Amino acid sequence: MFDLKIVSEFMYEHFSQVTVHAGTEFHARCALCGDSKKNSFKKRFHLDWHNGNPRWHCFNCDSKGGFLRLYTILKHCTLEEAKKDLLGWNPDNHRTRLNRETSFKVKPAKNPIDNFNSHLKDFAGHKFPVDSSLYEQWLKLIDKFISDRHIPKEYQILYAWKGNFQGRLIIPIFDKAKDLIYFQARCLPGSDIQPKYKNPVSEKSNIILNKHKFWPDKYIIITEGLLDAYMIGDQGTTCLGKEIQRPFLMKLLKLTDKTVIVAYDNDQEGLKSMLKFMKSPLKKMVKYFIMPAEYDAKDINILSCDHNIKNMYSFIVKNSYELYVATLKLKIM
Ligand SMILES: [Zn+2]
Repeated sequence: MFDLKIVSEFMYEHFSQVTVHAGTEFHARCALCGDSKKNSFKKRFHLDWHNGNPRWHCFNCDSKGGFLRLYTILKHCTLEEAKKDLLGWNPDNHRTRLNRETSFKVKPAKNPIDNFNSHLKDFAGHKFPVDSSLYEQWLKLIDKFISDRHIPKEYQILYAWKGNFQGRLIIPIFDKAKDLIYFQARCLPGSDIQPKYKNPVSEKSNIILNKHKFWPDKYIIITEGLLDAYMIGDQGTTCLGKEIQRPFLMKLLKLTDKTVIVAYDNDQEGLKSMLKFMKSPLKKMVKYFIMPAEYDAKDINILSCDHNIKNMYSFIVKNSYELYVATLKLKIM
């Protein structure tokens, strides 16, 4: 019987790019064989804690076994020594373990995510009927926007008919519990009301569009805008602007076995932001989407509206590159 905490510490100490699923399944780059040489993001080592009787398998080198065996290989020790360390009484080991435990940082309590449910009384939509003679008219505005911008039917658009955001279309983010965790209030298309977007204030790294929908065996794609992310389906999310913050990225990396792809807008500003990110300490943690030259679209939403791309997720994955290749591609362009 091996304690989850000991197994977890061992994994983080000896493996790189460790992610944990369902609390007890570890995926990492294999420390035994070095994992895939072609793809530095592949994590083919899997260890399942298995209620204290961990089993592991590397799908790259095909080695497998129990925890004691893994311990002997990576600690370069005998089975006897491993048993003594892990199962028997060993004063030295006990002491270091205690020290480590007391040095654990106390995790701060989770930030409660702001919710904006109180604004919903100001918004009208198909699921938010309002007793007004203008209701049908507002629905028409919403429907036109949905059809013009190719918005998939699982997402809602609302109209602010009163309150601070009156006269604007509301692009909402609901979480799994159907709480409104964020929204953007944009002016009606064709109007020149400034600013174009009027958004509530919130800690952006807590807002993760589609958090409850991500598939761990797929990439997560970050776009600048909400509508761009809508085009991608379950794997799309947005940093709600140009800046990808470290805590936000770290949260996403934990939710995928693949990696995160950043898909900046295909314009001057977007390119500038991408180049800036390519110099940041986070640069090697992601892949970069580069719009193929033959598709001259400013962003993903326009790409979807102007070109008939059936599967935006695959399209972006196919045109995404690791740092080195992405840098080369940008130089050629
Ligand atoms: Zn391996």
